[in-house]
Amino acid sequence: MSRPAIAHIRLDAFRHNYRVAKQSHGGKALAVIKANAYGHGAVHCAKAIEGEADGFAVACLEEALQLREAGLPEPILLLEGFFEAIELPEIVANNLWIVVHAQWQVEVLLATKLAKPLHVWLKMDSGMHRVGLSPNDYVQAYERLKSHKNVAKIVLMTHFANADNLSSNHTLQQIETFKNTTQGLNAELSLANSAAIVGWKQAKFDWTRPGIMLYGADPLMNADTKLKPVMQLTSKIISIRSIKQGESIGYGSIFSAERDTVVGVVACGYADGYPRSAVTGTPMAVDGKMTRLIGRVSMDMLFVDLTDIPNAIIGSQVELWGNQVSANAVATSAGTIAYELFCNVKRAHFQYFDAANI
Ligand SMILES: *Cc1c(COP(=O)(O)O)cnc(C)c1O
Repeated sequence: MSRPAIAHIRLDAFRHNYRVAKQSHGGKALAVIKANAYGHGAVHCAKAIEGEADGFAVACLEEALQLREAGLPEPILLLEGFFEAIELPEIVANNLWIVVHAQWQVEVLLATKLAKPLHVWLKMDSGMHRVGLSPNDYVQAYERLKSHKNVAKIVLMTHFANADNLSSNHTLQQIETFKNTTQGLNAELSLANSAAIVGWKQAKFDWTRPGIMLYGADPLMNADTKLKPVMQLTSKIISIRSIKQGESIGYGSIFSAERDTVVGVVACGYADGYPRSAVTGTPMAVDGKMTRLIGRVSMDMLFVDLTDIPNAIIGSQVELWGNQVSANAVATSAGTIAYELFCNVKRAHFQYFDAANI
């Protein structure tokens, strides 16, 4: 028998979520599958919507080449474009689209000899202040690129800093800055990430770029979405012990039992990607019954409270997150976000499921 920590990946749920994202936005949708599809497996996820997706978005050339090598013909956008001029020939040869987010990239793109013109997504910093050309420089860069032989088509894009916060007006300010600056430019627009698809109807234009919602995590935490979880992380109980009220368990003895407690030891730890920062009380399910994490998460094991689950046995299945336990809830308990939980999953065996025709 092998180690029982398993990440079950539902590709039919991923496909369902892509359809939800695309339909709720309207227009075209680039499936964001950077960082190995937020830890879910980029090639598997891409293949699940092959022929249906309008395109994919990844962080870098290496991630795009992995998809091309798997035979995926769809458009692929490099969200940070190129890091060095030396990447350009391979970008052209593999028919990739590039984000241009900085003035230095404009200069390099215009100064390099290319075999074919490139499809460019020109990114504006409309208020996030991470990357993107400032509104003051944007139109001039657009005009220079548009009239140059190295550039095929240009899509205008920006990215939101606070789309998951419905009580902030920053998103509307960003939309206004972007609309005002791009007024009169005859090009397609792309603004919305997942949170904007769900929360901001004013952000819907030609292209959307959903990421986290494809993996089933509600980007607003409490919205009424039709999303289905894609990853279920499970393991098994490998030991059961009882401790008396007042006794403690695990590293640092940070948990001491407020009552006589039955403790299950689960074969999953931070080396599998379960967050060490998760606190006692983080939700968990054992054989379908909700219970809680207790004590400190160690590298290979963690503790679950079995006091109220008398039927639990060695080998009982534990859901760390997935169907009953939302990744958002675990993330909140650990002071992080579902994005980071998903990206961190490793060592666990990945098993892929796909109910065809869904
Ligand atoms: C990662 C990313 C997205 C996807 O964001 P989600 O919040 O996961 O939907 C969209 N656009 C850009 C530019 C990104 O970097």
